[in-house]
Amino acid sequence: MTDVVAVAPTWGNFIGGEWVEAVGGRTFESVNPADTRDVVGRFQASGPADVAMSIRAADVALPAWRAMPAPKRAEIMFRFAALLAQHKERLAREMTREMGKVLAEARGDVQEGIDIAFLMAGEGRRMFGDTVPSELPDKWAMSVREPLGVAAIVTPWNFPIAIPCWKMMPALISGNTVVWKPASDTPGCAVLLVELLAEAGFPVTGAGEGAGAALVANPDVDVISFTGNTATGRRIAEVAAARLKRVSLELGGKNAIAVMDDADLDLAVEGIVWSAFGTTGQRCTACSRLIAHERILEPLLERLVDRVGRLRLGDGLDPATDVGPLVNAAALAKTSSYAELARTEHTVACGGGSAAGRPGLEHGHFFEPTIVRGVRPMDRLAQEEIFGPILSVISVPDYEAAITAANQTPYGLSASLYTSSVGTAFRAMRDLRAGLVYINAGTIGAETHLPFGGMKQSGNGHREAGHAALDTFTEWKAIYVDYSGRLQRAQIDNQPG
Ligand code: NAD
Repeated sequence: MTDVVAVAPTWGNFIGGEWVEAVGGRTFESVNPADTRDVVGRFQASGPADVAMSIRAADVALPAWRAMPAPKRAEIMFRFAALLAQHKERLAREMTREMGKVLAEARGDVQEGIDIAFLMAGEGRRMFGDTVPSELPDKWAMSVREPLGVAAIVTPWNFPIAIPCWKMMPALISGNTVVWKPASDTPGCAVLLVELLAEAGFPVTGAGEGAGAALVANPDVDVISFTGNTATGRRIAEVAAARLKRVSLELGGKNAIAVMDDADLDLAVEGIVWSAFGTTGQRCTACSRLIAHERILEPLLERLVDRVGRLRLGDGLDPATDVGPLVNAAALAKTSSYAELARTEHTVACGGGSAAGRPGLEHGHFFEPTIVRGVRPMDRLAQEEIFGPILSVISVPDYEAAITAANQTPYGLSASLYTSSVGTAFRAMRDLRAGLVYINAGTIGAETHLPFGGMKQSGNGHREAGHAALDTFTEWKAIYVDYSGRLQRAQIDNQPG
């Protein structure tokens, strides 16, 4: 376990290049979920006045940032990417301490931030528009991307470096300034990231806990990018709709892995274990439903239960740990309530309880990796996002039933199918209704140069990462230059707009 820290530092909000106290003068604590006696730091509880100051600072910085050529903005972004790479280990360790995921996964989280920074810095020299032939002689026609203005970025705790970078890098490279509201469970990670953003030279500003609602409601915000749960996303969309603001929402998931009767079961077991129990089941892309062909159900479950029984719970900083704690007491209570439901309505194949009774785990939010069998597609366990280490197993007679079950939730973020048939694989690529589809791999492992996001209630159609990321933070301007030197009648008589 981590040594208990006696005096935790207090951090301000970062506004206009300065660390400042919140107007209300209140702070809150962030603690280590593996040992809640370890206080990571104290952070500012913020409100509308702090948000207004942040937005003003972003507005003041906007004209110069917007006017800077994109390849120059890219130089700052390359510098930031290099800084992030240089500080990767320190950030990863602090992340594990603050939100619990094991160190290897925390390193992967920072790496995603590095990757998107390099990718988006490259966009500074691309950001292509179209140059097309005009309908008229002696006329030039083209389209360019323009920034929207002040971008409000609201992020969750489960990827405290990657997700903010996935949003801020495309926002900044396209010439927007950023006001960032990080999650209240990971303000320490936010401070570390902001220090590096400021060192690189970015116009980023941000306020802490309590600032989210005021931020998205502020009329001076031009675009909102939010990742979090579906209920919060819906509220934000309503607020944005009233002001006709662009809003990009990346929301919850209820992701499935389907295993066909011709699949390599050992391969499937590894994919299922890390998709379901990696990051303690707290990834938006985590697998929480296993859809198994009835012919391989028993051998698959036998191997899976054996493998899960050997996972080691503990502090994520210990290299022997496979599964860390849940992020906070509320997450532990929520997971426990679903385990109770599993006990009363289904069959618990392994796990099912808090692990706080085990030696060394008594001060953390630990929960046993849990597999529940006998679940049907429309049962609550198979429909609701738990965001904890509980995997529900659904048995199906054939491919068609597997696809129907996989698609039968309000969500559509990530989906996977294991098979040794090329034909079945291609059918699944077509039939699975999810923004991310994996064949013979688990539901996790997205790469930053491809679009990331969900269908149905997992989002509102926007995508992060890849070239698609620019679409959220830019709008198109069509430009016509008539160099004929005369009024061209066709322009008045025949044109629609
Ligand atoms: P959450 O919705 O509770 O909080 C997300 C952020 O929104 C936090 O910073 C929070 O303080 C802020 N917030 C809360 N209420 C707000 C309001 N009314 N207005 C503005 N901001 C508000 O989500 P969480 O518990 O932090 O994160 C877990 C959820 O995020 C899960 O549902 C998970 O699936 C989802 N998630 C989705 C993706 C994706 O890309 N689709 C990625 C990671 C996490």
